Amino acid sequence: MKSILVTGGSGFIGSHLCRRLLAEGNTVYCMDNLYSGSRRNIEDLIGTEGFTFIEGDVTEPYDFEVDRIYNLACPASPVHYQKDPVMTARTCVLGAIHALECAEKHHARVLQTSTSEIYGNPLVHPQTEDYWGNVNPIGLRSCYDEGKRMGETLFLDYHLQYGTDIRIVRIFNTYGPCMAVNDGRVVSNFVVAALKNEPITIYGDGSQTRSFCYVDDTVDALVRMMEQDDFNGPVNIGNPDERTIQEIADLVLEISGSGSLIIHECLPVDDPVRRKPDISLAKEKLHWAPVVPLEEGLKRTIAWFRSTMK
Ligand code: UDP
Repeated sequence: MKSILVTGGSGFIGSHLCRRLLAEGNTVYCMDNLYSGSRRNIEDLIGTEGFTFIEGDVTEPYDFEVDRIYNLACPASPVHYQKDPVMTARTCVLGAIHALECAEKHHARVLQTSTSEIYGNPLVHPQTEDYWGNVNPIGLRSCYDEGKRMGETLFLDYHLQYGTDIRIVRIFNTYGPCMAVNDGRVVSNFVVAALKNEPITIYGDGSQTRSFCYVDDTVDALVRMMEQDDFNGPVNIGNPDERTIQEIADLVLEISGSGSLIIHECLPVDDPVRRKPDISLAKEKLHWAPVVPLEEGLKRTIAWFRSTMK
């Protein structure tokens, strides 16, 4: 059993990860500044033996004597990370440095959650880990995209310069229970609108694609990557089942039985046209592939939002 720090532990993916690590008998320190995470996501864990919540910000140095650090802290929805871009860039860069410094001091293994956004608007499809990406350095998404790219650079540099025990994963679009109602990302926006019988807003003509991974599959990959011993990454974590945004809207309407209308608004600047992970490396190194099909994951997600929005 290990002592584990999860930064961003009360966020969407972080809270699922904390729950899983705790269920496996580990001691879990969950640190979050509650900017986009929520106490509600971890309410059931507070008071559980082995679980500690710390309200803290990764832009400040921290010190936990742990065996493992999962560095998840960062707003990840474009709406949230663009609201305060300087804060986002600081969280990406200082957050990476502070996780690495803490790991270095305590000889802990540290896993960086990077993102498919480091590929930008990709010119290679599907995206393999050896693709360097097509990123605008001065656009609305840059604070996150470039911040996460710098995060990867720092992880590699600490590893090469100081021998820090690092892991890097690139998480593609993930969805599931515990997404915030105001998260702003496509699945939660569509589900919330459908359940309120309000219009579903597709940005652009809906032909842009994404590949959506159910959160339990994503968390399983994170733990596998952390606990394997001979591969630092980066590795893509996502579901290669590529769909158009129009298809997602149609599926949400069908599964929820909603009568919401679909309306269209302008596509945001620098919105990637296509995104799909090549997960050959994850299959080979982690013996991992997602097991929850999109329709099943959406059913579970819609059921969760239905019960939480009552
Ligand atoms: N999108 C949309 N309606 C929404 C929210 C998002 O049509 O209410 C589109 C968005 O323009 C993008 C895709 O859905 O093409 C995925 O957006 P999201 O913000 O979930 O994440 P991204 O993959 O762009 O980071």
